[in-house]
Amino acid sequence: MTANTPEQEWRDRYTGALMNTFGPPKLTLTRGQGAHVWDEDGKEYVDLLGGIAVNALGHAHPALVEAVTAQLSTLGHISNFFASEPQVELAEKLLALLGTEGRVFFTNSGAEANEAAFKLTRRTGRTHVVAAEGGFHGRTMGALALTSKEAYRTPFEPLPGDVTFVPYGDVDALAAAVTDRTAAILLEPMQGEAGVVVPPDGYLAAARAIATEHGALLWLDEVQTGMGRVGRWFAHHSPLVEEVAQQPSRNLTPDIVTVAKGLAGGFPIGACIGVGQAGKLLEPGNHGTTFGGNPVACAAALAVISTIESEGLLEHVTVLGQKLRDGLAADPRVTEVRGEGLLIGLDLASEASAAVTAAALARGFIINNPTPGRIRLAPPLVLTQDDVNAFLAAWPAILDDALGEHS
Ligand SMILES: *Cc1c(COP(=O)(O)O)cnc(C)c1O
Repeated sequence: MTANTPEQEWRDRYTGALMNTFGPPKLTLTRGQGAHVWDEDGKEYVDLLGGIAVNALGHAHPALVEAVTAQLSTLGHISNFFASEPQVELAEKLLALLGTEGRVFFTNSGAEANEAAFKLTRRTGRTHVVAAEGGFHGRTMGALALTSKEAYRTPFEPLPGDVTFVPYGDVDALAAAVTDRTAAILLEPMQGEAGVVVPPDGYLAAARAIATEHGALLWLDEVQTGMGRVGRWFAHHSPLVEEVAQQPSRNLTPDIVTVAKGLAGGFPIGACIGVGQAGKLLEPGNHGTTFGGNPVACAAALAVISTIESEGLLEHVTVLGQKLRDGLAADPRVTEVRGEGLLIGLDLASEASAAVTAAALARGFIINNPTPGRIRLAPPLVLTQDDVNAFLAAWPAILDDALGEHS
C-alpha cells in the first residue's frame, strides 16, 4: 500500500466528519480579499459566485470587519427578551429601503425567513398558497413544501399541504389557480436557483392585481434578488423609479418580502418583512427564534447597507453587470444571457454547464452551474472592472476547454 497523499488525507477527514449532503468540495479555501479568494496551495481565484449571492462586499471588507468586531466586543447576544439598537435600526432601515410601513421578523437564513412568512400566511385564516414551478424557497420542511422541485421534495413527503404550483411567468395560469380561499401568492421576482429566470414584463404587477382581487397576500421571496444584487434594493422595485427619482409610491407593493443571502454580506441573517397590516398578523406566542435579530448580525447588515450607499454600489452593479452580460453574450456558444445587475444567468448551446464550471475553476474563476444547461454568476457587488476584463478575456478559452475549440 502506498502512503496517502496530504490531499487524500484531507479529503478523508472531510468525508469522515461531515455529512454527505453537498458532495465532494471543489476546493479548500483559506482566505479572501475583495472579489478574490485563495486556496490551500496559494492559487488565486476571481470569485464570481460570492458564496451564492451572499458576499455583497466581497471578502474581508474593512467596514464589515469593523462593525462585527465593534458589536461583538460591546454586546454580542442577548435573546429576544431584550431589545438592541442594531436590531431596531436595521428593521427601520429595511422598511425605509422598501418604501413602506411594516414590521420585521429577523431570522438566521433564507429558509427561516420563508418559514416565518409561511406561518404568517396561515394567520389570515386561509391555508392555500400558490407558488411557481422552478421556484426555490429553502430546504426546511415548510420552505420545501413551497419549492416545486421533485428531487428535493419526494424523499421528505408528506410536507405541509395545500400548495398549488403554476408555470412561472404565466399570468393566466396564476389567475386560474388563485381563489377566494388562497392565503398567498409566493414568487421570486427572478428565479435564482432555476438559473436566473426573468418573468415577462408586468408579471409581478399582474400577480399583485390577482392577489388583491381575491384578498390574498402577495409574498415576494427576495432572498437572492434583494439587497442591491440586481442594481436596486429590491428586484420588484421599478428600475425607472430608482433611476429617475426616489418615488417609492410608484413601486409595486407586496404584502410580504423575505430577504437573507446578501443582507449582512456573509454574516448569517434573514428577515421576513410584513408590509402594512401583514406585519401585524403574527402575534405574541405565534413565532420565535433564539438567534434571530442578534445584535452582531444586525450590525453587520447595517454596515453592508451603509457601504452599498457610501460606495455607490447600486450604480456600479448596474453598469458592470451590463458589461459582463454583453461580453458573455458575444460568444456564439452562449444562446441566451439573462438577469439584471450582478445576478446573471446564461444558457449554453449544450448541457455542459458542469464542464464549463470546472474549466473556469481550472483557469482561476469561480462560477456556478445551477442546471445542466445553465451558468449562474452572482459575484460580490464590489467586483471590479479589472475582474470583469480578466473573466471576459478567459471566457472563450474556458468554453474551448469544456466544449472543444470554436471554429
Ligand atoms: C437561497 C434561497 C433560499 C434559502 O436560503 P437559505 O439561507 O439557504 O436557507 C430561499 N429563497 C431563495 C430565493 C433563495 O435563493
